[in-house]
Amino acid sequence: MTAIKLRLLPLFFLTFLIVSCSKKHHASTQNPKDLSAVYEDKFHDSTRKALETKLHQWMLKDSALAKHFVFTNDGLLFYAPDQTPGPDTHPKFIIPFNYLGEAIHTLEQDPSGEHFAKAFTLPFKTEPITPITGPLEPHFNPSDSLPLRGLRVALDPGHLAPNFSFAKGIEKKFIDLHEGTDSATQIFESELTLATTYLLKEQLEEAGATVLLTHTDLNTPPIGTSFYKWINERFYSDLNSAFQTGMIDSVQKAALEEQHKKIPSEKAYAYIFKKLYNPLDFNARASLINDFDPDITVILHYNVDVYNKPWTQATTANMSMVFAAGSFMEGEIDKQQDQTDFLRLLLNKDIENSIEFCNEVQKAFEQQLKIPAATPQDSLYYLERYCIKTSKNGVYLRNLSLTRKIHGTLCYGEPLYQDNVHEYKKLTHSNFTDAMALPRIREVANAYFSAILTYSKRQLH
Ligand SMILES: [Zn+2]
Repeated sequence: MTAIKLRLLPLFFLTFLIVSCSKKHHASTQNPKDLSAVYEDKFHDSTRKALETKLHQWMLKDSALAKHFVFTNDGLLFYAPDQTPGPDTHPKFIIPFNYLGEAIHTLEQDPSGEHFAKAFTLPFKTEPITPITGPLEPHFNPSDSLPLRGLRVALDPGHLAPNFSFAKGIEKKFIDLHEGTDSATQIFESELTLATTYLLKEQLEEAGATVLLTHTDLNTPPIGTSFYKWINERFYSDLNSAFQTGMIDSVQKAALEEQHKKIPSEKAYAYIFKKLYNPLDFNARASLINDFDPDITVILHYNVDVYNKPWTQATTANMSMVFAAGSFMEGEIDKQQDQTDFLRLLLNKDIENSIEFCNEVQKAFEQQLKIPAATPQDSLYYLERYCIKTSKNGVYLRNLSLTRKIHGTLCYGEPLYQDNVHEYKKLTHSNFTDAMALPRIREVANAYFSAILTYSKRQLH
């Protein structure tokens, strides 16, 4: 952006706020030509109407949040939840439609959102991050023998329990079935997801893709330090920085300190895991992935029948589902980081692309694994309460930490119920190597692989 344009901006913003300007007036502050070239595919249809439709259809689970987003003919005004929207209040952020390219680029290039927060607010203090101009290096360059050559794929094996007892006592992601016999079937999700990830990685690399794993070993989670070691070495420093960065408030901080005094109680450990260690681990996963700058991200999970808790008996239910970002609820745009993540997802095409990719994954779950998609008729409370259903079967929008924080096209996959009466028998194993040799795990990896092939092929046309 030129210096002249920069000087014009404060005036432009004020005019934009106070007066309803004609389109003609704004012709003088149109996008630089190079920007249109870089962002053409990203905002050619991002008109007011398209954004308003997307806001209501996909972004807001609670319609009460709608009052924080005010559209004018010239742009979008965002009022934070602690502000009263109206003509007497300066909105927290202002995004003129003819600076949409800069806004998207700034949000995409700086995951912290801090640069955006300075550039798109009054008084105007800084300029948006200047987009890279010129042709971008095409890194995805498939051939007949290497159909994924150059494609960058990030794989995030869900959860991190290093063993069954941690999975059951602290992480709560396990099944422990006693089917009227003396022997129990004990399976923990982190082991299944890592085994699946290894198989998928192998296939992707054979097809020429460049693959990132957020962790390769259950003893070394993405956060870098195993839980008990972290409690001893990093609890207080991470607690303080979480407080300083606004990740937790003073009440949450006090509650965590209180629980820390109660260790080695398992309940206290589980509390600290859920409220601080796990969220920090999510941040670490998102950072690793965003730094890698992938074309596609897969977040691998295995589901359980939520009504079958505590998973000591098998269930006859079995369903598949996939998640992309969206579906924000009250309280979920209070923090600035959440606000800038929200605006990025509203303005760019990550959700649109993710729905397309998720749809391929979901179809593969249904066709190759023979698991039906979860529908609203299944009355799963979490789908009703937290999710927005898309027009695609089994594809739901959900504001999970990772769907929100990870940039680009992603799929958060839940292929089957581990506690299903048929599935658990196919998933029973004695150690990690054994898990990798399970045909069912291989089938799940195959389903993801074929979805990545289909989706990436379509991106070329
Ligand atoms: Zn999971």
